[in-house]
Amino acid sequence: MSRPGFEREERIQFDLEDCGFETLALRAGQVRNGEGEHCDPIYTTSSFVFSSAREAAARFNGDEEGNIYSRFTNPSVRAFENRIAAMEGGERGVATASGMAAILSVAMSLLQTGDHIVCSRSVFGSTVSLFQKYISRAGIETTFVDPTDLDAWRGAVQKNTRLFFLETPSNPLSELTDVRAVAEIAHKADALLAVDNCFCTPALQQPLKLGADIVIHSATKYLDGQGRCIGGAVVGYEKEMEEVFGFIRTGGACMSPFNAWVFMKGLETLSLRMREHCRNAQAMAEWLQQQPGIARVHYAGLPSHPQHELAKSQQTGFGGVLSFEVAGGQEAAWRFIDATEIVSITGNLGDVKTTITHPYTTTHGRMADADKDAAGITRSLVRLSVGLETLEDLKADMQRGLDAL
Ligand SMILES: *Cc1c(COP(=O)(O)O)cnc(C)c1O
Repeated sequence: MSRPGFEREERIQFDLEDCGFETLALRAGQVRNGEGEHCDPIYTTSSFVFSSAREAAARFNGDEEGNIYSRFTNPSVRAFENRIAAMEGGERGVATASGMAAILSVAMSLLQTGDHIVCSRSVFGSTVSLFQKYISRAGIETTFVDPTDLDAWRGAVQKNTRLFFLETPSNPLSELTDVRAVAEIAHKADALLAVDNCFCTPALQQPLKLGADIVIHSATKYLDGQGRCIGGAVVGYEKEMEEVFGFIRTGGACMSPFNAWVFMKGLETLSLRMREHCRNAQAMAEWLQQQPGIARVHYAGLPSHPQHELAKSQQTGFGGVLSFEVAGGQEAAWRFIDATEIVSITGNLGDVKTTITHPYTTTHGRMADADKDAAGITRSLVRLSVGLETLEDLKADMQRGLDAL
């Protein structure tokens, strides 16, 4: 399937190869349509017109490049795709309606009946359901493994294994997976490695450079960062991305031009925001660790984290999400959460506003108790996605929680 309009609109005025990450975040993928606008336009159009019947025919049969219909291509969506691809160091990006649509598109376009997936057991809850309940209907089985145990990854490989899937650091316990090592195991098995890079974003971790083949994003989280839109992206190499693009174009889980424009704006400040998220989360983790009511803090930025060195070797920052266990069980955790006044009680994360969640009864509520126990997700665990409020105000809010224990 050819990509209409790809050449024409990708034209960029400078050589991206020589540019730094922040420059890419601001300039890559930019579209100018001759009006001299400085901010990217939003192409809110469902379809595109042709100058003649001959041109229409040429576009439809692929002889001529150009837009046809916004489910296939749209200049605003393509601008976002080119920008996120440049930031991840990939050859091509495909925008999707949501993060889950990104994961669905990878499974549906790159696997077939009889194939097998090896997946970290600490991935986003809907990812587990998608593989277990729906992808399995296509005759594609999934084996879930401890993401920190390289022997478990190796041991799960079957003759028909075609995809490895992981998320690092994990939610909510901040467990890391060694991307370089798992990429090597996957490639030895002739399988692709897909990494959900939602928690780090390309500002802190670039999985393709660590050997992964595919990067997945829920743009809903840090890429937007301001809680406005649902969206996703897949980034990788031309061969796989052509298949993913074909599935999205045909299956219809495409991104709206408006959302693409919002995400473009989000990417412009990503680097800046991630730096501050890391700074606040680090300070918060260190402070929480010293509080008498806190039994344990999970954050890879703490030297006591068992994978602190691995985090330093594959990430350039430790991220904005941490979790901690309060002394006492579920009642204590709920009292802590209910006593806060500033932070938002919500399942979302990756927002400039701090969010607080009780994973056991919300985001991970549908997991069997035994699975939660095995994964270390206890009743006393609280997850904090540290935002950009004044740090002292956030500490004061956590102190309210501590006082309620
Ligand atoms: C939220 C999330 C997703 C799903 O993204 P949606 O945009 O909600 O579909 C996938 N992976 C991770 C790690 C997430 O946090």
